[in-house]
Amino acid sequence: MIVDETQWLALLKKRFGFASFRPLQKEIIHDAVNGRDVFALLPTGGGKSLCFQMPALICPNLTVVASPLIALMKDQVDALQASGIPATFLNSSLNPTESRRRLYGLHTGQYRLLYVAPERLMLSGFMEDIKKWNPNLIAVDEAHCISEWGHDFRPEYRQLARLREFLPQTPMMALTATATHRVRADILTQLRLRNPKCYVASFNRPNLTYRVVAKSKPSAQVLQLLRARPHDSGIVYCQSRNSAEKLAEFLGANRVQARPYHAGLTPGQRTENQEAFLRDEVRVICATIAFGMGINKPNVRFVIHYDLPKNIEGYYQETGRAGRDGLPSDCVLLFSASDVVKQTGFIDEKTDPREQKIAREQLQQMVHYAEASNCRRVELLEYFGETHAEENCGGCDNCLTPRDTMDGTLAAQKFLSCVYRIREKSGFGVGLNHVIEVLTGADTDKLRRWGHEKLSTYGIGREHDRPEWAAIGRELVRFGFLRQTSEKFSTLELTDEGRAALRERRKVTLTRPMKAIEMKQAAPRAGEIACDEVLFDRLRQLRKRLGDERNVPAYIILSDVALKQMARFYPSKPADFARISGVGEKKLIEFGSQFLEEISIHLQHHPRQVFGDDFALPAEMPVTRMEASAGISASIRITLDAFNSGQSVERIATDRGLAVSTIYTHLGEAAEAGEPVELERFFTAEQVKEVAAAFAANSGTGLKTVREALGNRYEYGPLRIFRALMEGALNR
Ligand code: ADP
Ligand code: MG
Ligand code: ZN
Repeated sequence: MIVDETQWLALLKKRFGFASFRPLQKEIIHDAVNGRDVFALLPTGGGKSLCFQMPALICPNLTVVASPLIALMKDQVDALQASGIPATFLNSSLNPTESRRRLYGLHTGQYRLLYVAPERLMLSGFMEDIKKWNPNLIAVDEAHCISEWGHDFRPEYRQLARLREFLPQTPMMALTATATHRVRADILTQLRLRNPKCYVASFNRPNLTYRVVAKSKPSAQVLQLLRARPHDSGIVYCQSRNSAEKLAEFLGANRVQARPYHAGLTPGQRTENQEAFLRDEVRVICATIAFGMGINKPNVRFVIHYDLPKNIEGYYQETGRAGRDGLPSDCVLLFSASDVVKQTGFIDEKTDPREQKIAREQLQQMVHYAEASNCRRVELLEYFGETHAEENCGGCDNCLTPRDTMDGTLAAQKFLSCVYRIREKSGFGVGLNHVIEVLTGADTDKLRRWGHEKLSTYGIGREHDRPEWAAIGRELVRFGFLRQTSEKFSTLELTDEGRAALRERRKVTLTRPMKAIEMKQAAPRAGEIACDEVLFDRLRQLRKRLGDERNVPAYIILSDVALKQMARFYPSKPADFARISGVGEKKLIEFGSQFLEEISIHLQHHPRQVFGDDFALPAEMPVTRMEASAGISASIRITLDAFNSGQSVERIATDRGLAVSTIYTHLGEAAEAGEPVELERFFTAEQVKEVAAAFAANSGTGLKTVREALGNRYEYGPLRIFRALMEGALNR
């Protein structure tokens, strides 16, 4: 076990390519490797995975990770393997042969991490297997799945509690981005965590900008938003399957590649559309809330809500899927009064009165958020019991372009008296829209049937259009002058407060109605990395090619952050490339030359752009010293160094995520290049004589013949090294 914490940083760079820990990561890792139970509440993008992946490298044995989704497991294992970390998963997607192969690997200690579906844990004999592997740590990712109160309850997660009985000594780690206290408490009890150390990070996501836009022609508005960011990918959340489907179609017809995702599609179609999105083949996914968990795509640049979400918790989780990589990303909510009416209608159809009450409260909070004129961030965080101190967050519409206020005394008088007159005349209340029709002097059958065109307030409000009156009406509701009944047809009623305001002609200050989309934003945005956009685009294409070749999403190769850093600092040699975020040992070797070449080609045709010194790359890290020495490649050098420091071939293969035969090839090539490889590690003095004789007797033939001559008692690997050394010695 690596106990020296200063070595952890070297390990972090070498394996993950990161120069420093994110907030709380180091503390969480520290407790876990010291055997303590940990409960980690970090927002989406907070870097939870690393909290159990680092212990897996620090400690000698296996780390077991429970994870709820097949796609999620595969994604994380792909990412680990791309970084040269031996990891695997077991779930229902594997055929028996493949499962057996992986189990064999587990029994022979070839992996550092195992991801499992909770239902798999319950298969007979599997718990005993795990016990045999003597894991260092059991991590429960997306731990909120254990709670019925959460948004993603999975009954099979309940079984995880049994792990504790089976492995009473093994420390457990529960991780989630759940912000509600009820779910948090539930996780602690359900998982039976023992005196856990609880870590709670701030749920503020500084790189996300929150906006609410008055919804008028939503499809056109979405299209406009998408056209403003032609290279970015993102999610548009719709309320219904139908609207998700229609919107995707509409966008497609307007040359924006989009796919739908909802529970009405077959599992096959859903997977296909999700994959297309992850692999950047389409840049927009139009989805219901069925889409989301398990989307680890770090470069989701926007989340648009086409319809009003049901509650703030859901809204926060959905918007949270934007900008996991820390780069600036946008969250836009399209909001209209008619959505509120629609939602109220759905709630009215519910039969359980308790459920109805909760849904109404939640909707009210959501509407309150949408109509708030103060900082959105403050509103969101307050909902989760967190206070946000900053005056101006610089990352929400209300802080960026404060909404003007206006003297609304006259407008309020007109509106309130109109409500009053209608009730006086008809004896019943009417909805918001009808009041507005009277105010603006509309000519409808209903109006005439009820004689409302004869009211003294008819047509007195032509100075505002209908959406403006709707906003005024809703603000008067929020001020408490009007009450919106939540019956089937929601009507407006004057409150005592409203009657008093009307009588006393109280001075009222109103917010100026929201204008259409305004996306201007003063630079710099939180998390921004200014860079050479042409080069960035070029590197993005290279990354896509590399991803396709390996059959993994592009973000598994390197993050947007990495590409932006490259497009800003123009690294020209491996040591500089190694300073890029996410570049560890394996990626340096595997991708270094291709990215460096791409950058150098770009610089032949474009001038180097200069950026401020507000942002610098971390200093050179140990990994950079592994540049290729004369004769052998960097990769072979790593193998050789590890071998010469006493590690076994099997161990090196496991650590590097390479095949044992590859390691032998490395050693063979190193030997051929004249590097010292200790033969005594494979052969005794007696054996050396015997093998040398066999080579001599069969000179000019292949290894196979020599091996057979030796009765197949030796593996190819050592023989290959033997031959290389012999030939090397002959040539010198
Ligand atoms: P979470 O599970 O908390 O949502 P992830 O584990 O998926 O977050 O991490 C989000 C992103 O942050 C990933 O792209 C990951 O590579 C990156 N990341 C994690 N830790 C660090 C770090 N210490 N430095 C830089 N990037 C990090
Ligand atoms: Mg995660
Ligand atoms: Zn703000």
